[in-house]
Amino acid sequence: MTIAVDFDGTIVEHEYPKIGKPIPFALDVLKKLQQDRHKIILWTMREGSLLQEAIDYCAKSGLTFYAHNRNYPEEEFREGDPRKLSADIFIDDRNIGGLPDWGIIYKIVKSGYNSMQGIDMMMDNDRPNNMRKNWFTRVGEALDKSRGYRY
Ligand SMILES: [Mg+2]
Repeated sequence: MTIAVDFDGTIVEHEYPKIGKPIPFALDVLKKLQQDRHKIILWTMREGSLLQEAIDYCAKSGLTFYAHNRNYPEEEFREGDPRKLSADIFIDDRNIGGLPDWGIIYKIVKSGYNSMQGIDMMMDNDRPNNMRKNWFTRVGEALDKSRGYRY
């Protein structure tokens, strides 16, 4: 799969334009996913030297991206064209519900994002009406659970 990942607030704490403290396990999980043959793209609002700082920061920890702010290394943009992302998954702290723990992110990606399996894995399946809940409710509960919130 092609996985796009945000930088500020996702790999490091949001201190833009500075580089914040590392978010636990972000780089480890991304490196592991790369070893599992996923393509990792850095997709960030950073440009120019600020983008380069983010690239260098990750490279120092051993993570080299497949592409930066583009879908593949040779992709070209004309000035002013909006960037359009075609990755299978986008990991970003602006998701509904915020950024899950990186351990949860790893499980979701490993189990196949488009199947329900990954989500089911993290859920209580002993609730009789579980199957009738809609998908967003169930994802929301799984994320809450990953943060230790009890229903
Ligand atoms: Mg962000």
